[in-house]
Amino acid sequence: MNSVAETPKKKLPPMLQQYLDYKKEHPEHLFLIQVGDFYEAFFEDAVLISNTLNLTLTSRDKNSENPIPMAGVPIGAIEGYINRLVNENISVALVSQVSVPTGKGAVDRELDRIITPAIRLLGNSSSDSQGAVVASIYFSDISINDLSRASEISLAYCYPETGKIIVLEDLDRESLLLNLSQLMPAEVILPKEIGGKKIDKRFSLLREIEKVSRGVILRFRNDNSCIGQSKQRDFVEIKGYSALNNTTRSAGRLLVNYIDEVTVSSKISISSFSYRKDGNQMCIDASTRENLELVKNQRTGSVKGSLFSFLDRCILSGGKRLLKQWILQPSAELVEIEKRNSTVEDFLSNTVGKKQIQKSLSCISDLERIASRIELNVVGPKELGLVRDSLLNIKQLISFVKKCETGNSNYISNFCADIEYPSLLLELLVSSISDEPPALLKDGGIFAKGYNLEIDKYVEIRTDSSSMISQMEDQERKNTNINSLKIKSNNVHGYFIEVTKANIDKVPERYIKKQSTVNYERYYTPELKALEEDIRSAESKQLMLEKELYEELKNKIFPFTSSLRELYQEISKLDVLISFAEIAESNGFTKPIISEDCILEIEEGKHPIITELLKGDFVPNSISLNADDESCMILTGPNMGGKSTYLRQVGLISIIAQIGSYVPATLCNIGIVDKIFARIGASDDLHEGDSTFMVEMREASQIISSATHKSLILIDELGRGTATTDGMSLARSILEWIVTQTKSRTLFATHFHSLTSLDSIYPQVVNYSVGVVDIEGEVVFTHEICKGVAKNSYGIEVAKLAGLPNSILERATELVTTITKENLTGDVSQLSLFEKNKFEHTIKNETKKDNKKKFLLEIENSIKEININRITPIEALNELSLLQEQINKNKDE
Ligand code: ATP
Repeated sequence: MNSVAETPKKKLPPMLQQYLDYKKEHPEHLFLIQVGDFYEAFFEDAVLISNTLNLTLTSRDKNSENPIPMAGVPIGAIEGYINRLVNENISVALVSQVSVPTGKGAVDRELDRIITPAIRLLGNSSSDSQGAVVASIYFSDISINDLSRASEISLAYCYPETGKIIVLEDLDRESLLLNLSQLMPAEVILPKEIGGKKIDKRFSLLREIEKVSRGVILRFRNDNSCIGQSKQRDFVEIKGYSALNNTTRSAGRLLVNYIDEVTVSSKISISSFSYRKDGNQMCIDASTRENLELVKNQRTGSVKGSLFSFLDRCILSGGKRLLKQWILQPSAELVEIEKRNSTVEDFLSNTVGKKQIQKSLSCISDLERIASRIELNVVGPKELGLVRDSLLNIKQLISFVKKCETGNSNYISNFCADIEYPSLLLELLVSSISDEPPALLKDGGIFAKGYNLEIDKYVEIRTDSSSMISQMEDQERKNTNINSLKIKSNNVHGYFIEVTKANIDKVPERYIKKQSTVNYERYYTPELKALEEDIRSAESKQLMLEKELYEELKNKIFPFTSSLRELYQEISKLDVLISFAEIAESNGFTKPIISEDCILEIEEGKHPIITELLKGDFVPNSISLNADDESCMILTGPNMGGKSTYLRQVGLISIIAQIGSYVPATLCNIGIVDKIFARIGASDDLHEGDSTFMVEMREASQIISSATHKSLILIDELGRGTATTDGMSLARSILEWIVTQTKSRTLFATHFHSLTSLDSIYPQVVNYSVGVVDIEGEVVFTHEICKGVAKNSYGIEVAKLAGLPNSILERATELVTTITKENLTGDVSQLSLFEKNKFEHTIKNETKKDNKKKFLLEIENSIKEININRITPIEALNELSLLQEQINKNKDE
């Protein structure tokens, strides 16, 4: 089949030439071009779409030597297909027909919209508007000379719906990666070159960016527009822009220019550039986010089973977006956390109010998204109707919320006090938009009665037409004496008078024949034709005028987009806080006590998601750490005992507390955590050439360099992927460093039992273990975390549960017994080099003993097999000498 590169352009029809022109300009997007009632993809795009969506791949010119691959989707179903493609990280560009095909000459087509994984504003489906981040990075000239040691990096990012750009400047390589891993951008825009040096994916920094923000698309753009002023925007006019340094301005422009490129001919309003104040948020890196399954589960990558899906009882799309944002960047500000907490408390004590607010929320549409669509000039009449209905609901909601009884929080009584409610917009929409406006302009009926008298007149003609037609029908029946006469209409023939064949002799001369069918004759009269023309022209005049007025209306609405967003963001916050109250109520969560002290006290804490899964069988556990005396817990215990679950549970409870929610515990006293590091479960990155152990050491090095005394470190089994002595020594030295240098609150689960002796050296270290009981010879894990060191790893019991054959289990038990007898610890993994030699010696002895047993058994059998009654003395002597020989030979071995 033919590919773009192989096709001589001149030989192609104009439509495909245009296709290739667009493809050349935007090679990263999959192009769909409208051909009548279908959107078609050609060349490589056709193969891609057919593979991704399982569509039939055909070709345009089947009989040619080199047919051009082609695959299409019907216009009516395009939005669903776009959504599926974008969910697969494919950005889609639509080229639509802008002139009506006449059969003569080429049809005019234009690039209509581009929908990318991060910028979906021009997609008509709102099903996936839970928020994606688009970011840009710019480097100063100095750092670009050596990207591997880049510093002075600026990062700009935004959720496109919000129109607000957040910037971070003077970042070094590590903090850039940390921020990206937290933000999880869907797309990152980079300059094509800086100071004459071309930038591409071979730079190790860019590979690392791809690694930390998994699934991200890197796009390189010319930064010409970054030097002077953008063609379309006056950046200086945007709030906060002038205060940025040059590198950050370049990052900001790179980002905004990309958004403008994707939004084709229109642009969204960018209201501000603002610095993100670090220290405001808890830092969560990519591994921690994945290990704790914050927004996706580790097994399938779907949202199911994640913390987000557990906490999400939000009604609004904006609420869902905000919740996700809060989970990925929990607050580290005491006042903010307490404010959210007390509001949840208020809602918990006011169940009636909560239910009523939720009812109102369910009648509010995604105003952030619609605001962007207003700015992009793609908003439909139905969406404006939704804005009107939402504003009416919000108005009632605000006054209801303010009247709700409050306890500690003044959030409720001050709800929306600082936000200007767009009353003028509401007035405008109430007076202009009809009760049930159409989705598309061409369907007519956009405007409310009284908004424009001329439109009202046309609407009246169209509405009255049915009564005028029935009046005419009555009159004609009387005139002709044909009782069965009817006036009907269809799309092809318009209006006509229908008479049965039996009555045609009664038809007057003034009737003009229009059409014959099997049973009827159809006619028209000059009066019927005139009335039809009135109706038809009223319709087209109404549509033309509506189009004109709709453009005017959109211009009037345009200035209100920022206040719509602001209002919606506040309502979304309310939605999330009510969702927290719902969760707290149905799961029996408790209000946490938050402070600036470095403590972590949890009583009867639970892993929220596993608790839900186990339906009441989850064993709650407590913890008490304090950065000053007992800051580090070493956790030992059997495999499958629940160590990782416990570590995850502590991490999750800290995050849940700092997003402002109640927590799954009976008591929670927590000092604000600035960074959380969860390294639970082994992983490798073979794609990047890193083994499990390498990944483990990289992560440990990141913890060592970034953790502070306010951080929370959760490490499960460090140092398992290398030689036992090396691993154990590394685990110990890393642990010693954490205890003495960073002094972070730490949970360290390990099978290296010798590490438990550290408690006698460092008073900050406390030993805990997972409980086990022996019930009638069967080992049962209690999942209780108790003070003290575990006596055993119970590896063999777990292996038994896993179904290993009995012979192997017996042999392993035998070995363990022998090793224990030989005064070894029983845990192979803990052996020092000396101990290891001793262990190997023991194994050798064991094998020797086994071989001897086997040999003696063979000799015994040989003797048993001799038939004394038949053997001659000479034969007996020979047999005896043979046995002797064998015994001597075995001795030598
Ligand atoms: P390993 O050392 O083999 O990694 P582990 O000690 O980390 O094991 P987990 O993976 O945390 O063990 O838990 C093992 C199983 O025990 C899980 O399937 C979990 O459902 C269950 N479990 C863990 N904690 C509890 C608990 N507190 N109450 C009830 N069941 C639990």
